[in-house]
Amino acid sequence: MQATKTPIDVNPIDCSHYINGEFVQSKNGETFENMNPATKEVLGIVQIGGKEEVDNAVKAARTALKGEWGTMPAKKRSQIIRKIGDLILERLPELAMLETLDTGKPLWLSKSVDIDRAANNFHFFADCVTTTGNESYQQDDIAIHYSVRKPVGVVGLINPWNLPLLLLTWKLAPALAAGNTVVMKPSEVTPMTATVLVEICKEAGVPDGVVNLVHGLGETGAAITSHEDVDAIAFTGETVTGTAIMKAAAPTLKKLSFELGGKNPNIIFADANLDETIETTLKSSFINQGEVCLCGSRIYVQREIYDSFLEKFAAKAKELKVGDPFESETLVGAMVSEEHYNKVVSYLDIAKEEGGKFLIGGNTLYEEKGFYIEPTIITGLNQDSRCVREEIFGPVVTVLPFDTEEEVLEQINDTHYGLSASVWTTNVKRAASFSAQIEAGMVWVNTWFLRDLRTPFGGMKHSGLGREGGVHSMDFYTEQTNVTLKL
Ligand code: NDP
Repeated sequence: MQATKTPIDVNPIDCSHYINGEFVQSKNGETFENMNPATKEVLGIVQIGGKEEVDNAVKAARTALKGEWGTMPAKKRSQIIRKIGDLILERLPELAMLETLDTGKPLWLSKSVDIDRAANNFHFFADCVTTTGNESYQQDDIAIHYSVRKPVGVVGLINPWNLPLLLLTWKLAPALAAGNTVVMKPSEVTPMTATVLVEICKEAGVPDGVVNLVHGLGETGAAITSHEDVDAIAFTGETVTGTAIMKAAAPTLKKLSFELGGKNPNIIFADANLDETIETTLKSSFINQGEVCLCGSRIYVQREIYDSFLEKFAAKAKELKVGDPFESETLVGAMVSEEHYNKVVSYLDIAKEEGGKFLIGGNTLYEEKGFYIEPTIITGLNQDSRCVREEIFGPVVTVLPFDTEEEVLEQINDTHYGLSASVWTTNVKRAASFSAQIEAGMVWVNTWFLRDLRTPFGGMKHSGLGREGGVHSMDFYTEQTNVTLKL
């Protein structure tokens, strides 16, 4: 692999906490080094927040709730939220560069998806502030019942590393739209764009104390989730962490929203348009190094087209460029961290032990440079294989043949996960009836990752709790009081 060619005209940053409108360092002096996974170079120093920082952040958030923010007219709040989106777009090149340095993902992807959609989250929820309605019922001439929305209070936002700014803003924008104050903790491996975001919030006019940021590891997150003065937690991450958070939040009965792991199936029927299917399946398998919760990592193909699908899919996947995230041709960059790279590599070993065949891939690349893994297609495994059942979260997919609709439906629903699925068929009747029977929060037909922010986003079973998006987010980030007015 060539050395990074694109001139990096943005300096990586050290990451401090942001509490009550000021950047501060940890009282205990604890820090860690933030690493660029594409080069193994140290990017900067990150503060590790302890109980004291979390306490201070929660206090600041509670105070801000009672201040200017708590009484701000909705129109003004909406203008501030819109301005945050505008400022993100103004700083898009810088934010995209920082996101790529932190994650190892291609720069073009950071620009076109991560940062662009982060701005869009604010623009979208700026509108929700003024357009979300409340329920109201007239009971003959006896009474009118109507609901009044109030912010939940202080909300903890805890986020993963795969789409750092995009997922953080997917929570921050509606939390602010509904009038809450927040304490955010980004993933330890991707702390930089959150640190720029708080600067942007201040510039946009967010009062001090409304948005607080505490960096750190899992323990920092745990201090937020168990804090008695935090009213709600919105979390995206692994299912096992969700379980820990649920336990920690139980004594204080916090409101919870979880977006968790997945093992999403792509189901390809023999009547599908094969070229379109393959084009999109390449993306749903390998984009962002397969590190998207919605990636389709187990592919089921009807037997009549199994061989021809594999032949074409493998040929196209072989052409995907892996390497320098700053190269415009790169589709698969570096895995986000050494720890995650080791996890994905361990599944390549498991696949071999389970008798899987690497149709393509199965190797690591440029080891002296960074954490790269080839796009990998595994065949020859059965439904009970760990590689078919467990979330790998890398550029690794399994492909299994199926004969009938009933058989494949049973296989795809045979999992604790229930996040998303992608169905490929030209038979509209089958598309509708089959999709309705899939145990997943989101099903795409003849497409993937196509989003409308008004739709309910989230998983069922062990893939999540509740839904985000449009009015669903506004419902989570508000409490409703029903008023009955006797006539
Ligand atoms: P983790 O669950 O490991 O971490 C997520 C966040 O939780 C991090 O900030 C982490 O801190 C923090 N954390 C860890 N332990 C605790 C704890 N006990 N209490 C509170 N916070 C804690 O997830 P990953 O970062 O590894 O992200 C990948 C996962 O996210 C995958 O499973 C993926 O499927 C899922 N995901 C789901 C999405 C969805 O919409 N359903 C979208 C994107 C990802 P630390 O800094 O130490 O890591």
